[in-house]
Amino acid sequence: MMHCNVCLTELEKPVYAAHSNQSLTSLCELRDGQVNVWSCPVCSHLRSEAFADTVAYYESDYKILLSDEEEDQIYEVKEGEIVYRTDHQISTLLSKLNLPAGAAVLDYGCAKASTLKKLSGVRTDLNIHLFDVSSMYKEYWNKFVSADKCAIHTTPESWASSFDVLTSFFALEHIPEPIDTVKKVHALLKDDGVFYGIVPNTFGNVADFVVIDHVNHFTAPSLAYLLDSAGFTDIQIDDAVHRGALVFTARKGAQSSAGLNVAETIARSEELARYWEAVNQGISQTSQAYAGVTKAIYGSGFYGAYIASAMNDFDGVACFLDASPFQQGKELFGKPILSPQSLPKHVKVLYVGLNPSIARAVMNDMRWLQERNISLVFLDEQLA
Ligand SMILES: [Zn+2]
Repeated sequence: MMHCNVCLTELEKPVYAAHSNQSLTSLCELRDGQVNVWSCPVCSHLRSEAFADTVAYYESDYKILLSDEEEDQIYEVKEGEIVYRTDHQISTLLSKLNLPAGAAVLDYGCAKASTLKKLSGVRTDLNIHLFDVSSMYKEYWNKFVSADKCAIHTTPESWASSFDVLTSFFALEHIPEPIDTVKKVHALLKDDGVFYGIVPNTFGNVADFVVIDHVNHFTAPSLAYLLDSAGFTDIQIDDAVHRGALVFTARKGAQSSAGLNVAETIARSEELARYWEAVNQGISQTSQAYAGVTKAIYGSGFYGAYIASAMNDFDGVACFLDASPFQQGKELFGKPILSPQSLPKHVKVLYVGLNPSIARAVMNDMRWLQERNISLVFLDEQLA
């Protein structure tokens, strides 16, 4: 029996079941297995199934941005200036927390700990500690934190009740038993210590809903429920300060349970499930309508990879197209990634694998494409 991993309510049918037997991870890798998502009627949490081999996956397979130490993701381009995700996370954290001089801070599930590493440059007074379930990241940690302040797999007993702040950047969505984790966090904090974290907001980033390694899709009510039940108070959840994410703070202290209003959230979850069902249906109907015709996919990021994973005739795809010079010349799932203008003549159907909110505008700007005899397929085609 499936149960909610926040409030433990037994769950019946999934609100969403993918058609395809292969799925994408948040790192755009293909995995065997179908994505099913359940919506909890009590706390509105959304969950999928954990990998059978979760422990091994995070010990060795989950290699986020490990290839290049300085690699970072772009959060936005503001007045011509690139704002990196790490920098945005630091300015958000500093705006939300009042960090006293010398505060003891533990990044819990820190991976490379890029955010805390940069923060340690801005706030040299902080007493930073690191924890993760993988030993892969040690060489990154050792560059700015001494080994006695790092822990792998379990935290030492001496760390109990000793931190002013625990941070968690994009970690809780991967954890099959978040209740255990949040209780551990609570035990590591001093009285009045603050848990600060960030998780994806599936309503602000629809892609989050269908990635197989995000076993949790927290909603504002389910996140509040989780923190409240672990013994936190003064729970604040902000869905605006970081695009596509929920940023929260919660204090260890005497509890005051807040009532939950979940009806609106549950309705939004159902709408999101219908959205992805329509996307899947559109992809499979297009395959049938254009059987035997050579196809290509525009975009080699998440949405392009998603189309590939959901097609049942990926053999008929000649290539991916991508405007990014960093992607051109690489391969995705064994197919070449070409510049858009190198689209082969025999391709007659082009799937648009871009974020649906910008896809039409991007394609409209490509005048050269309008002279080609080619059918464009948009992800949200069926949804007008
Ligand atoms: Zn629940």
